[in-house]
Amino acid sequence: RISDEIYHKLECEAYKKFSKEIKFEEFVIPRMIARLITRLNIDGGQPEHDLCINVPKSIDRRTWYDLLGHRDEIICSDRHLNVWLKTIKQIELLFKDKFNNIDLLEIFGKILINRFRVGFIENLFNGRLAIGWAIYLTTSRFNHSCQPDLLQCSYDINMRLKFSDSNKIIPQTTLEFDKLTVSYRHQNDFRLKSPLTYVPNRIQRRTFVSFFFFNCHCIYCNDDLCNRYDESATNHLCYKCGNPLILQLYSQKPNLSIINCISKNNSCQTEQIIDYVNISIIDYTEQSIDIYEEKLSNIQQILHENSILLLQEREKLFFVYQKLIND
Ligand SMILES: [Zn+2]
Ligand SMILES: [Zn+2]
Ligand SMILES: [Zn+2]
Repeated sequence: RISDEIYHKLECEAYKKFSKEIKFEEFVIPRMIARLITRLNIDGGQPEHDLCINVPKSIDRRTWYDLLGHRDEIICSDRHLNVWLKTIKQIELLFKDKFNNIDLLEIFGKILINRFRVGFIENLFNGRLAIGWAIYLTTSRFNHSCQPDLLQCSYDINMRLKFSDSNKIIPQTTLEFDKLTVSYRHQNDFRLKSPLTYVPNRIQRRTFVSFFFFNCHCIYCNDDLCNRYDESATNHLCYKCGNPLILQLYSQKPNLSIINCISKNNSCQTEQIIDYVNISIIDYTEQSIDIYEEKLSNIQQILHENSILLLQEREKLFFVYQKLIND
């Protein structure tokens, strides 16, 4: 903000020419890269002010140079490579050869992996829409956990940290501060108060773990068999071994789910389908609040009290009611 003038010099020139032809929201990464390059010329990637408003003074501040760009991984991952190839074309379109002597892949990688949604607006049907992006240097050092110590959130450009456990306070030493964890999946969401509602299901977890180039070793991610229990344990017990049966998607018929036993008991075969159920999860196409309630109550009859699937369905209904109240 302080340096608006300087940014304008470079960016307005580039954007004016194309203002009619391009959609700016599709050019977020090139614009962030241009902004970053200007920024590096101003403060060398060591900003005077931290955008995180409640980091104690005693904590060492990070600089741009401390961030990891994952450049080697990016070019090996189709998903990331496609974004990079698109970005480099957009940069050429906007800025021609202005950045020819700059290692754009390094900057791109750091931005893609460390950027953070800010100033979101709530939208029930499209999820939460970010209206901007920012990089928070000091807080980007936190590791991920599916059961994070911290919730982090920025409503405007400033970020605020909050403990999942409200009895804890932010440590005063860098050593302790660095050990804190956040969820990379559920950033920017103070609506969810219990760490348990932060547990993603296995598909979501694999998607975001592959995006950030790491493996999560939290108790939820360590053991796939255990994950399947946590996620979709039902309240039906196996008549042979007495363990809860689990609910799984049925590949042959998408509208049906199957129930089977995955315990390691010798007399139980994991491949054996014990039952079929017709159950549908909340997908926000429901026409009335009664239908939401009905879906939840159907799922509740099958799933175990503590199954993650059930928690997630309750969470969805909670947001639907919250939306109703706000409107
Ligand atoms: Zn301008
Ligand atoms: Zn995890
Ligand atoms: Zn069994």
